[in-house]
Amino acid sequence: MTDCIFCKIISGQIPSTKLYEDEMTYAFMDIAPVSPGHALVVHKHHHSDIFDTPERDLADIMSAAKKVAIALKTVTKCDGVNVSMNNGAASGQVVFHLHVHVIPRKTGDGLAPWPHQKAAPEELNMLGTEIRGHLK
Ligand code: AMP
Ligand code: ZN
Repeated sequence: MTDCIFCKIISGQIPSTKLYEDEMTYAFMDIAPVSPGHALVVHKHHHSDIFDTPERDLADIMSAAKKVAIALKTVTKCDGVNVSMNNGAASGQVVFHLHVHVIPRKTGDGLAPWPHQKAAPEELNMLGTEIRGHLK
């Protein structure tokens, strides 16, 4: 895609700190890391988000993300990693070339977790039933 920043990174038109590359995927350092080592993993095929990405391409990305996570754990000595993906502007997605964030985490690093709210069992059941109906 001609005006996609991540397509330009993959093709080398825009510089990046490359971490890993294979036939299908490319991983590089996030320019504004949440924590040291924060990496992004993308597919070489341009897809906007999870909704328009074929399952096999998602599998390619997750396979590369695991390799990156292992390397980050070794190098940063982190205690855990967040592997996450924003899909759609409402979720915080800014770059519309699907990418997975691999973020090293340390115990007590102070990075605020998402706010959770306890849900009523009836609410979980009602919504769960409706969602299940779309997963057949
Ligand atoms: P998202 O909010 O999920 O779309 O995340 C986009 C991510 O891309 C952000 O964490 C940015 O810091 C990162 N980013 C944007 N431009 C670049 C770039 N040129 N090189 C590396 N990371 C970038
Ligand atoms: Zn792209």
